[in-house]
Amino acid sequence: MKKILLMVIGMVLTASAAKAKLNVVATTADLGAITKEIGGDNIELSTLGKPTEDPHFVDAKPSFIVKLNHADVVVEGGAELEIGWLPALLDQARNSKIMSGAPGHISCATGVPLLDVPATLDRSRGDIHAAGNPHYIIAPSNAKIVAKNIADGLAANDPKSADTYRANLKKFEDAIDTKLVEWRKKFAPFEGQSVVAYHDSWPYFAKEYGLKIDLFLEPKPGIPPTPAHLAEVILGMKQANAHVIIVDPYLNRKTADTVASHTGAKVVEVTQFPGGLKGTEGGYIEMEDYDVNAIAAALAVKN
Ligand SMILES: [Zn+2]
Repeated sequence: MKKILLMVIGMVLTASAAKAKLNVVATTADLGAITKEIGGDNIELSTLGKPTEDPHFVDAKPSFIVKLNHADVVVEGGAELEIGWLPALLDQARNSKIMSGAPGHISCATGVPLLDVPATLDRSRGDIHAAGNPHYIIAPSNAKIVAKNIADGLAANDPKSADTYRANLKKFEDAIDTKLVEWRKKFAPFEGQSVVAYHDSWPYFAKEYGLKIDLFLEPKPGIPPTPAHLAEVILGMKQANAHVIIVDPYLNRKTADTVASHTGAKVVEVTQFPGGLKGTEGGYIEMEDYDVNAIAAALAVKN
């Protein structure tokens, strides 16, 4: 009898411990990966966007509403990255804990020095970067700011585990600092070198490593390439001696191949989301390693 009673108490305690875990939803896979580093076993994490999905256009499934309805915390990129799909989901989830402004709503762009912020907001020309460039997490310096925002947010919602979140933050920051020295060294021989991107999602990466990523296959962020625009890009590549084109998994590789065939450039597949390409599943640092090595290797080949 006593044994059974102890078992029941044990089960109740286990159940309440499980229930005590903070239920966290991250919008995209990069945020999910960093949230996992900080939250560890103290949180129950789900991530909405797939690592192979365009973060501007995540396919919003009904199951997302259920997840958001049950969440204690939502982790978003902000800077309008998810404006096309997240606000509608939050409205439907009807969860006051995670609405914008509530303690359970962590906007990771807080404190990030955003690039390309327009003087006046103008969406009339179809630009999906109307509030500044939202692809800031790919720069490790910004990933540290993101990790701090997440640690602060998790600690505020789960004070009993605050020390763990802070310790995990410190571990992540130290790992980034160590790797950043190595990553910067890899790009040192290519300072000021022009690289072409399909979508303007690499300005923070360029700034971090002293590259120039300012020629784009899209005429404007979110606007598909046109033959006239691509002809201009080809001309620009010749002028800038650009011989590397980087493409994210969810963009049209064929367009990049066409431009490459006219310029002799090399097309390099890269990702901003852990798991977006084979060999990047291990998390943020493994992904950054992959991108740095792939781009630096392509730059090293002279054409
Ligand atoms: Zn974008």
